[in-house]
Amino acid sequence: MSRIAYVNGRYVPRAAACVHVEDRGYQFADGVYEVCEVRDGKLVDERRHMARLVRSLGELRIPLPMSLSALSVVLHEVVRRNRLGYGLVYLQVTRGVARRDHAFPPPGTRPALVVTANGLDAARADAMAAAGIAVITVPENRWERVDIKATALLPNVLAKQAARERGAREAWYVDRDGYVTEGASSNAWIVTGDGKLVTRPADFGILKGITRAVVLDAIRAQGLALEERPFTVAEALEAREAFLTSATQLVMPVVRIDGRPVGNGVPGPLATALRRGFHAFAAFS
Ligand code: PMP
Repeated sequence: MSRIAYVNGRYVPRAAACVHVEDRGYQFADGVYEVCEVRDGKLVDERRHMARLVRSLGELRIPLPMSLSALSVVLHEVVRRNRLGYGLVYLQVTRGVARRDHAFPPPGTRPALVVTANGLDAARADAMAAAGIAVITVPENRWERVDIKATALLPNVLAKQAARERGAREAWYVDRDGYVTEGASSNAWIVTGDGKLVTRPADFGILKGITRAVVLDAIRAQGLALEERPFTVAEALEAREAFLTSATQLVMPVVRIDGRPVGNGVPGPLATALRRGFHAFAAFS
C-alpha cells in the first residue's frame, strides 16, 4: 500500500515527504501534535482533539495553520488516500521555518503542518488488552506545562525506553509526593478495593486526555463510583484493578507495576467493560 502524507499544502508519497532543516519543530521541538484514532475509516472524537489542538497552539502562541474546517478536510483526505480502516492519524503543527534563533520568528512566518496515517492491528491490540500490560514507575522529570501537547517529548522517550528495557509497555511518572501523575503517553487509573474508579484531576501536571474524558463520560452515564484525585504507587499496588487510557490504546488493563501484580494479576472486569463499551461514548466523523 502506498502511504501518503500531507506536508504543507501537498499530498506526497510518505517516502518522499520532507520538512525543511530549519523547521522549528526539528530544531527546537517548537510545535504541538494530536493523535486521533481511526475506526472503520472514521475519525474518533475529532472535535475534542481539535479543541485541544487549538488550546495547545494558543498556549504557545502558534497560529492555527488553516481553519478547523479545512484541517478536517485534510485529516479525512489523508485517511481516504491511505485507505485506512483501523489505525491513527498523526497531526503536527510547528512554528514554521525560519533562520535559527530561539525567540519567535518574524511575524508572518507560516506555521508548518504535517499529517500522516498509520494502520494498527486490532487483533493484536485486543490480545494485549486480554493479557494486560506491565508498567514501571519513574520519577516525574518533565516541565510544568505538560497540559500542552508539545512535540518536545525527550523525558517521555527515555521513560518509555526504560519501560521497554524492563519488559514493560508504559512508564508511570511519580511526583515528589509519591503520587502517580500519568504515563509517558497515557493517563493512569485504578479501581480501589471498594470499587471506586480513581484518576488524577486534569487541572495541573497531566495532559487532559481525550480518552480519559470519554471514559469519564461513560463512568458518569453508568453511575459508577468515581473519585478524581491523585493516588500513590502503594495504593495502585493494593488496588483491585489498574488501567491506562490513550487514543491508540483505548482502555488498556495494567496487571503489573514494577514487577508486582495488581489485584490478582489479570485484567479486571471494570477495565475490560470500559474498553468494550468505549465507542458507544465516542463521536465518529
Ligand atoms: N498523557 C500523555 C503524556 C500522552 O502523551 C497521551 C497520549 N496523547 C495521553 C496522556 C492520553 O491522551 P489521549 O487520550 O488524548 O490520547
